[in-house]
Amino acid sequence: MQTAAKNAFSNYINGEWVKSSTNEVSTNKNPADLNDVVGTIQKSGEEDLNQAVEAADQAKKSWGKLAGADRGQYLYKVAEIVEQRKDEIAECMTREMGKTLPEAKGETARGVAILRYYAGEGMRKIGDVIPSSDKDALMFTTRAPLGVVGVITPWNFPVAIPMWKSAPALIYGNTVVIKPATEAALTCAKLMECFAEAGMPAGVINMVTGPGSVIGQGIAEHSKVNALTFTGSNTVGKKLGQIALSRGAKYQLEMGGKNPVIVAEDADLDLAVDATISGGLKSTGQKCTATSRVIVHSSVYETFKEKLLEKTKEITVGDGLKEGIWMGPSASEAQLNTVLSYIEKGKEEGGELLCGGNRIKENGFDQGYFVEPTVFDNITSDMTIAQEEIFGPVLALMKVDDLEEGIELANNVEYGLSASIFTSNVQKMLSFIDDMDAGLVRVNAESAGVELQAPFGGMKQSSSHTREQGEAAKEFFTAVKTVFIK
Ligand code: NAD
Repeated sequence: MQTAAKNAFSNYINGEWVKSSTNEVSTNKNPADLNDVVGTIQKSGEEDLNQAVEAADQAKKSWGKLAGADRGQYLYKVAEIVEQRKDEIAECMTREMGKTLPEAKGETARGVAILRYYAGEGMRKIGDVIPSSDKDALMFTTRAPLGVVGVITPWNFPVAIPMWKSAPALIYGNTVVIKPATEAALTCAKLMECFAEAGMPAGVINMVTGPGSVIGQGIAEHSKVNALTFTGSNTVGKKLGQIALSRGAKYQLEMGGKNPVIVAEDADLDLAVDATISGGLKSTGQKCTATSRVIVHSSVYETFKEKLLEKTKEITVGDGLKEGIWMGPSASEAQLNTVLSYIEKGKEEGGELLCGGNRIKENGFDQGYFVEPTVFDNITSDMTIAQEEIFGPVLALMKVDDLEEGIELANNVEYGLSASIFTSNVQKMLSFIDDMDAGLVRVNAESAGVELQAPFGGMKQSSSHTREQGEAAKEFFTAVKTVFIK
């Protein structure tokens, strides 16, 4: 078993690995096996954050002045190094937060693709010529970097989310201070090693680890942080958004979801079952786009339920490093307890447990945070588990008599991130696309998943209504300047 010493990380500030001024560290253990100490990271304080912001502030001028193509060359180099180290990074991710190794490898490959996508952006257009009504004038737009960008990330996508925020921030000429979630900070530290190895100039990207209430909040409050990009829970996001707004910093919040799948009477039921299981239970249900509510037409309800249960019972739960394991543990004790308490609430409020519902502790599972894949029947919209984000492997079945009722039910939550419909009827697809309040609207496809070149983000309480990824990233990470030359 690997010891913590091998993965003992400092903060990455101004191109150096620096110990925290607090002299304190946090230890990350494998949620599938608490005997496995994965490594340590700094439990930093305000002073460390100030150093990182100062370094980013100092570096922003020269980095912002580089040609986009030159910034792109750095990102290509980082991509190459992450690709070379993909197995080690993926293994660290699995040990640190429990996602299965194939999923961790897939995510690391996604991180590489994101880096290459934005490296290419360095050579694409950043403005438009606009006809002036003055024939002797030239009018056009260009884009300027924002300056220092604060990046605050959750633990559930430890490579993809840090990369889909940092890579566009950097390519458009900003410098970065990143604070990853403590639960997945070792994986982020490995990414910083890749930036360092690629020869990224000092101060262009900096990582400070530590408590959200100190480092996260400190980033949002810091007068030299010009923009904040946050992904995480609603409670934290809204608070940070208010802080950023109050001091005039640009901000972007991507938050929770309570994503529905509608199964119409004319759906391909096998496809709908597979997509519900994959969308709802893969990554142990710990995706912001995870399927959580399954709204099924009454005429196919019983058949769908039977097929869903049969497949759910086949799911292999265990240590995601092992072959043949489909679902790993909850990422932390806190997450496990949240999931178990929602399951209890579901039972108390009248939900019928069809399968799962328990922590798994027997046969060697006692050293991990494992919970059974869980399906509830007879769920109504007023129940807590039909309204609040669980972030665990729990599906809630709901019955409706027509599509209109289904969409109404699907919309009857405060979130609006992702939503799917399964139907073979084009009219139903169009009604769903029109009427569903969600940033990601998916037809005959699971609720989780979006391609990296497409806009990503939610409606209602899921987002601050900006978008990430693709062209949308340029909107957030730059300021438009309208130029008029006479
Ligand atoms: P979280 O809000 O607890 O933490 C997110 C980040 O904020 C972490 O880095 C954390 O350390 C920091 N933080 C925590 N408390 C803070 C505070 N008081 N002040 C400042 N920063 C603080 O979320 P999480 O548990 O890491 O992640 C799960 C949540 O993330 C879920 O709600 C999920 O839906 C959401 N999520 C959303 C998306 C999306 O794109 N919409 C993607 C992934 C995860």
